[in-house]
Amino acid sequence: MTETVEEKLSIRTEKVEKSRLPEVDFENLPFGRVFSDHMFVADYKDNGWHDLRVVPYANISFSPAMSTLHYAQSIFEGMKAYKRADGGVYLFRPDENFNRMNISANRMCMPEIREEVFMDGLKELIKLDQGWVPGQEGSTLYIRPFMFAADDFIGVRPSDTYKFMIFTCPVASYYAEPVRVRIETDYTRAAKGGVGYAKTAGNYAASLYAARNAQKDGYHQVIWTDGAEHKYIEESGTMNLFFKIDGTLVTAALGDSVLNGITRKSIIQLAKDFGQPVEERRISVEEIDKALKEGRVEEAFGAGTAAVVSSIKTVGHQGTDYDLPPMVEGTFAYKVKETLHNIRMGKVEDKHQWMVKV
Ligand code: PMP
Repeated sequence: MTETVEEKLSIRTEKVEKSRLPEVDFENLPFGRVFSDHMFVADYKDNGWHDLRVVPYANISFSPAMSTLHYAQSIFEGMKAYKRADGGVYLFRPDENFNRMNISANRMCMPEIREEVFMDGLKELIKLDQGWVPGQEGSTLYIRPFMFAADDFIGVRPSDTYKFMIFTCPVASYYAEPVRVRIETDYTRAAKGGVGYAKTAGNYAASLYAARNAQKDGYHQVIWTDGAEHKYIEESGTMNLFFKIDGTLVTAALGDSVLNGITRKSIIQLAKDFGQPVEERRISVEEIDKALKEGRVEEAFGAGTAAVVSSIKTVGHQGTDYDLPPMVEGTFAYKVKETLHNIRMGKVEDKHQWMVKV
């Protein structure tokens, strides 16, 4: 049966018999290993989404021939829910995650997710597991929506069936240790014409080897450069990058090899609100190298959902380490991190209407 757009999708709910919540030590939460009681699942078949359900978090079973395992037709998102002092639970710009998920879906020849499947599934799940949203300062509920090809077929072609799922993890306040990063000029994360702008599994697998090499040399991560010439700065790990040089904030322009980060986009908006000059453009390795040598890099930081703002303390390039000033009060990085936190916690006006109550 082919689904029609008018068809109203309803979500059925099957609750856990006994919550695991009392067993969780919210003061000592490891990242990404503690999973809330429920998960949301929807199945795609016959050209439509079916059987929307919130069910107990559990293992799933599949055939060894399931195509995702072989050809990585798989995409995901990462977002957070925040509990405010009055107990209200809020999401930060969930429409942006929804839009980006469908951009990824299109690139990977996967079906688009209907807005009500994504948003209603998300809200139902978070409502049911509200108790899992930590109340401790800085702690949040990390949310992982994802979709993968579900055909039991090892021919290389887009799958006919998919699963869309969401699960959540309470996570502690992410203390972002200032990071040491090295400009990568051998390996490539994403090519022109490739899938770098999609949040698809293979991009992360492709990034591991260079990152591990950098870690062996005492860095936390690499700064990726363009795949064609390794002449232009792109991004780092799971973060977009910002540099403040001669008073101006700069970040790499978007393209097909850079993920369109929601934190990046929000920081650009806040910089404009603060009257901080900000540019989205090509940033050459040469420009950064020169500015580092001349001591003109006033700030450098990564921006992403996990750490929000992660200060860069050292940039390594061609065997030399350049140390940068810390992210202390008075820096742009400090101010923007605090402002994002205050918007999320309802402590300042949300003038762009980024927060959505669950
Ligand atoms: N780049 C990559 C490769 C990422 O995985 C992420 C995390 N989603 C980001 C940048 C930052 O994006 P966001 O601010 O939306 O988390």
